[in-house]
Amino acid sequence: MSANVYPVPDDIAKNALIDKSKYDAMYKQSIEDPEGFWGEHGKRIDWIKPYSTVKNVSYDANDLYIKWYEDGTLNVSANCLDRHLEKRGDQTAIIFEGDDPSVSEHITYRDLHERTCRFANALKSMGVGKGDRVVIYLPMIPEASVAMLACARIGAIHSIVFGGFSPEALAGRVEDCGAKVVITSDEGLRGGRAVPLKRNADEALSHPGVKSVEKLVVVKRTGKDVAWNDARDVWYHEACAAASPDCPPTEVNAEDPLFVLYTSGSTGKPKGVLHTSGGYLVYASMTHEYVFDYHEGDIYWCTADVGWVTGHSYIVYGPLANGATTLMFEGVPSYPDASRFWQVCEKHKVNIFYTAPTAIRALMREGESWVKKADLSSLRILGSVGEPINPEAWEWYYEHVGNRTCPIVDTWWQTETGGILISPLPGATDLKPGSATLPFFGIEPGLLDNEGNELTGATDGNLVIKDSWPGQMRTVYGDHERFIQTYFSTFANAYTTGDGARRDDDGYYWITGRVDDVINVSGHRMGTAEVESALVAHPKVAEAAVVGVPHDIKGQGIYAYVTLNADEEPTEELRVELVKWVRKEIGPIASPDYLQWSPGLPKTRSGKIMRRILRKIAANEYDQLGDTSTLADPGVVDDLIDNRQNR
Ligand code: ATP
Ligand code: MG
Repeated sequence: MSANVYPVPDDIAKNALIDKSKYDAMYKQSIEDPEGFWGEHGKRIDWIKPYSTVKNVSYDANDLYIKWYEDGTLNVSANCLDRHLEKRGDQTAIIFEGDDPSVSEHITYRDLHERTCRFANALKSMGVGKGDRVVIYLPMIPEASVAMLACARIGAIHSIVFGGFSPEALAGRVEDCGAKVVITSDEGLRGGRAVPLKRNADEALSHPGVKSVEKLVVVKRTGKDVAWNDARDVWYHEACAAASPDCPPTEVNAEDPLFVLYTSGSTGKPKGVLHTSGGYLVYASMTHEYVFDYHEGDIYWCTADVGWVTGHSYIVYGPLANGATTLMFEGVPSYPDASRFWQVCEKHKVNIFYTAPTAIRALMREGESWVKKADLSSLRILGSVGEPINPEAWEWYYEHVGNRTCPIVDTWWQTETGGILISPLPGATDLKPGSATLPFFGIEPGLLDNEGNELTGATDGNLVIKDSWPGQMRTVYGDHERFIQTYFSTFANAYTTGDGARRDDDGYYWITGRVDDVINVSGHRMGTAEVESALVAHPKVAEAAVVGVPHDIKGQGIYAYVTLNADEEPTEELRVELVKWVRKEIGPIASPDYLQWSPGLPKTRSGKIMRRILRKIAANEYDQLGDTSTLADPGVVDDLIDNRQNR
């Protein structure tokens, strides 16, 4: 992989919250004395009743429990709103940037507090109370944050379903969590196109399995006429206008649930990941502050959707708990054109920008002229999350977006982990493109062989986390057995991440991809990330996905799907050239046996490549694709099936 190292820039190191020696000292303490460390840092949030115990965890699969701060009580929305009112009531909490570039709005902490209280009271009047589930199916509009905070205020459990999901996907999640109320809008707007959210919600709620929903709350976003069920449907603005702006926060226990969120579904049926209140908020706010080196007054933008965990922890809960100004963007990176992200950075003078490799690769494909159109001098820190970032994309991001002055934090984590586990800290960590680098405080990664033996030194293996941290998920909603099976039964006494990683001589971690995706060619095990990065490093390649395919002699062969840059033509010569290129970059063992041109790759709605589908196509088993409810564009799959390589 990439050999470049980028040392911490002097000006960043000088002003950073955490420098190298502080990182070393705090990390050491966090591992040697987790009780002391988290006991101290738990105080960063406000407790109604302070905790007297910190950690109570057993990773024994036969007697598994995970509890943090278990006798403390708090309210999450009060931590994100009320406690800021005195000092920063008039500071902007949320900058809303609409799909239409002429639309934006600044919402102060005071205003957000009032909106939240009103909607919390409205929910109460609909009979929603502590422990009830509320599904949020909204576009990226401020009401989505208000709805989350309003649930938190009254102890209700929210479950956000991404606004791009189909009625079937919505129905499945509403049914699984037994929601009493669903919140949607008349329509959503993305890339200039309207998305019929209310119609989708109506269809979802008419599914025979969906029996729990009493009210459907509808936010007026575009004003489009929608079908109406008088007995069930409620306008958001009417409910809020009728409600009192005074809503005392409900006291909840640290271990009371805050939300359920279904995973992306890259590897199978989505899991209803349950997070609780106290530990989650401590962890989300602390990682937000240190990983992004957040300073008072910074304008912070995470481009994720609130439908993903990244939106939960790093658009809403982390930043608001820290009193930050967080930007919510309704649109897409390509509308009105490929300079939109950069225009928004210029317009709002964004200091910290956090996005996903899929977006970076897509924008890179369009060329850097779009980046040059904007003044990006306000940027200080860049971030990446969601997939391994190919070194080629990293370098492009670093050079063209960050002007070679902004550290990139490549943050590895999962819906299950609640917050970032492995990442550089801008003032402390020298960067290597493609590596998520070092663990955050309190995180002790381990690499195991398939028999569960821990491997030491520079090696690769199954990535596990050896002990608990406060932001960890507590169960799979309604299926605790699946929780134990999935995360604690493969290897004893550790949290199994399902990802593979390599540790280098400096102790840096490189995520090699999902363990399920590992390819075994003639006994050589290979992660997908390395082969894909080699392909993406070719100047004509925009994106690539590789999977293993049954092979008579080698056991498995390599099947590569390649997307070319916008202006490149696929030719036989190029195919041969790319195979040779990988052979040269990595070695003969990694050279693809098959290479298929793919104008598009199957991705989850959050933009992750779904290799399990590519594996089925490559193996000619395309009649058994499995759960495809989270697929962004099913049309891509048909094209890939039609154009598959003969084996
Ligand atoms: P499912 O669990 O349903 O298959 P998913 O794993 O895609 O879906 P998420 O929790 O959204 O659901 O994604 C977490 C996964 O994303 C990680 O396990 C890892 O494979 C990948 N990932 C996230 N961030 C990074 C990163 N910075 N580097 C490498 N991989 C990453
Ligand atoms: Mg996963």
